[in-house]
Amino acid sequence: MRSAARVVVVGGGVVGASVLYHLTKAGWTDVMLIERDELTCGSTWHAAGGMHTVNGDPNVARLQQYTINLYREIERISGQSCGVHLTGGLMLAGTRERLDWLKMAQARGRYLGMELEMLTAEEAARRFPLLDKQHFVGAIFDPVEGHVDPYGVTQAYAKSAQIAGAEIVRHTRVVDLKPRSDGTWDVITDHGNVHAEHVVNAGGLWAREVGRMVGLELPILAMEHQYLITEEVPQIAGLPEQLHCIDFEGELYLREERGGMLIGTYERAGVPWSPVATPWDFAQSLLPNDLDRIAPSLEVAFEHFPALGEVGIRKVVNGPFTFAPDGNPLVGPIKGLRNFWVACGVMAGFSQGGGVGLALSQWMVNGDPGSDIWAMDVARYGDWATLAYTNAKVRENYSRRFRIRFPNEELPAARPLRTTPIYDRLREAHAVFGEYCGLEHPLWFAPSGADAWEDVTFHRSNAHAHVAEECRAVQERVGLLETSNYGKIEVTGPGAEEWLSRIMANRVPRVGRIALTPMLNDRGKLIGDFTMCRLAADRVLLIGTLAAETYYLRWFQSHLPPAGVQVRACAMEHVGLSVAGPESRALLQSLVRDDLSNTAFPFLTFRRVDIGMIPALVGRISFTGELGYEIWVSPDYQRALYELLVEAGAGKGLKPFGGRALNAMRIEKGFGNWAREFRPIYGPYEAGLGRFVALEKGDFIGRAAALAERASGGELRLVAFAVDAADADAIGDEPIWHDGRVVGWVTSGAYGHRVGRSLALGYVPAAIAAASAGFEIEIIGERRPAERLSACAYDPTGARMRS
Ligand SMILES: Cc1cc2nc3c(=O)[nH]c(=O)nc-3n(C[C@H](O)[C@H](O)[C@H](O)COP(=O)(O)OP(=O)(O)OC[C@H]3O[C@@H](n4cnc5c(N)ncnc54)[C@H](O)[C@@H]3O)c2cc1C
Repeated sequence: MRSAARVVVVGGGVVGASVLYHLTKAGWTDVMLIERDELTCGSTWHAAGGMHTVNGDPNVARLQQYTINLYREIERISGQSCGVHLTGGLMLAGTRERLDWLKMAQARGRYLGMELEMLTAEEAARRFPLLDKQHFVGAIFDPVEGHVDPYGVTQAYAKSAQIAGAEIVRHTRVVDLKPRSDGTWDVITDHGNVHAEHVVNAGGLWAREVGRMVGLELPILAMEHQYLITEEVPQIAGLPEQLHCIDFEGELYLREERGGMLIGTYERAGVPWSPVATPWDFAQSLLPNDLDRIAPSLEVAFEHFPALGEVGIRKVVNGPFTFAPDGNPLVGPIKGLRNFWVACGVMAGFSQGGGVGLALSQWMVNGDPGSDIWAMDVARYGDWATLAYTNAKVRENYSRRFRIRFPNEELPAARPLRTTPIYDRLREAHAVFGEYCGLEHPLWFAPSGADAWEDVTFHRSNAHAHVAEECRAVQERVGLLETSNYGKIEVTGPGAEEWLSRIMANRVPRVGRIALTPMLNDRGKLIGDFTMCRLAADRVLLIGTLAAETYYLRWFQSHLPPAGVQVRACAMEHVGLSVAGPESRALLQSLVRDDLSNTAFPFLTFRRVDIGMIPALVGRISFTGELGYEIWVSPDYQRALYELLVEAGAGKGLKPFGGRALNAMRIEKGFGNWAREFRPIYGPYEAGLGRFVALEKGDFIGRAAALAERASGGELRLVAFAVDAADADAIGDEPIWHDGRVVGWVTSGAYGHRVGRSLALGYVPAAIAAASAGFEIEIIGERRPAERLSACAYDPTGARMRS
């Protein structure tokens, strides 16, 4: 074992081996992998080896496509077979809702270049003779599905890496990780130490324990998972290999295994394995079978695939593997730890392992993952994702693995966790709550007498009419919104202005003013959008997306100068309420001594104001497009503020509104959101944020690329559409057609109640962005005519919010 290496990868499962291979491919060959036992001995060796391209997040789907296409490459380099069986696969629908879901998956696949084919139940039965078609209403066929040999894949990655110069050390356990002051690491093993510039935690089942060596509690939990292999099934004898098959209603997956069928299930009563600490003596081990637990799923299997009930069981496998609370991997560098990286929580190693290795290696070698991996970024979780939270959410996620998550569906586990002081007041007002980063926030308000409950659906829900009323109140009178679910980061110190000017694309505003700003990476792509509120010469409050708080802090901390600037997250120190609508000024003015007139308190003012007895920070800004004010107070004042506003607003027709109405109104205004319109695959000019890029202010991160983008115009353009929708609006990720071709994708959609039209925002190639006709947006399998709007749908001059 060498005593020094540029990178030590901890863990030789499929993920660690892929990371090692990709590092060598990216040019770092002084790398080593340390495995405490044999390669694959964790969760990898007993995997069913299934692989597929479909994923709820299009960017993860892209990395899955990459993974599957990679197997030929590593087979060629290593000479090791991956045992690829590209059988193609079926996803079966047993209900109309599932069929709608499949249509949406097929539509999304169109702009990812996937050739998914819709089938009737009869057609599906012809391709998969084991199914009883009476239980199904349709299916999708994906030619890029199948299974691999888990051992072969891991060995192929490992050998390919070794050929390029990587070292693999087996039977050696990493027992501790000690940081040096220069950011490098001492990797302490039971067979000696290695000095490494970088460490990658690819510890799989033990990733939590490896994280704890550096003080991290990673949000991952292993669940027991069972599959069985039947004796030979006579009905398929002599036929070509059977397709990979997912039966969503049965919560089953199936594939052929040596003449029999492998049947796996994500049962509802899933059981965590080693919920607190993973035993180190577990290697190439299985757990005791518990067929009783999966008996309900097997009964469905025998009903849906009758031939399977007639053959015996050859083998049962019960093994653990890890999940993050949302089921996506945890990848990337860790805020506050230099040169420490994670690649864990990978629940579909044979669909995702290659993409994870690619993204992480690019990130380490080039400083950027090279693609939009927000859905996998470890920074999407914050401190709220504790061990017990993770336990509740992973169990929920496992039990729902094959169930539909409707776009308006809120899941119940681990709730309520974080609440603001007015939570019970909002409940009394019949709020229907959503959960975001563990925090409860109102989505909409049911009228008294009606259930505070939303039907889950792909179509317009029972909330539609009530959200319309909320929008009307904001348009005509005044609405009250709880806005605590924003991230807040305070930047202080004598160097704050200069530093922010380098980090952000826009100018830092004067004291007492607000400026909106994109944040760019070195490639000039969007990695954040903020409201910068200047409180003092040396104090700026950044307001942005709560879910990205850790992501932002990680970037800020890695760009801080040695002295003169402090950066601190303070989301819950400033909880918020916002008043919006033509009566909002009169309402607020009735409670404050300051002059709120348009001349004294113009648009984009930010100031300390006392509201009644309550000290507050008030910003005149609007996400609704109406005259409005955002009010930030410390939590101990929020209740009093709420009651004051409600009482004073009663005579002005004040109505509470929630996130659904806000979303509809911001789409009417064409205002983008982080993780929807603004992501690291778009440039600021493409995203319509060019007016917030101050190219002339001097150098800032991403300026050169932004200059080039302005000169070229960029490749894409964010455009607004009015869609001739039926009873379902676009929600995001629908394909945009133009003249019979898929040219782009929707980022957000909603019904615009103030304009009385169904709306969508989405990206299309810049070259056709100005086309006046020929657009369609595919909503649940139907191509609906879409009118490209030359300006935002509501109040394009912005007169209402500036008045
Ligand atoms: C029953 C079952 C069926 C499955 N079916 C599929 C499927 O069909 N398709 C699919 O894509 N996925 C499937 N999976 C999931 C798949 O197995 C995982 O996604 C994959 O194995 C994750 O790989 P990993 O490298 O992250 O973790 P692991 O395989 O757990 O590897 C981690 C490695 O790190 C080593 N290690 C940990 N700590 C240390 C240390 N301190 N020092 C040295 N070494 C250390 C361990 O010994 C281990 O070898 C299945 C899993 C199970 C259990």
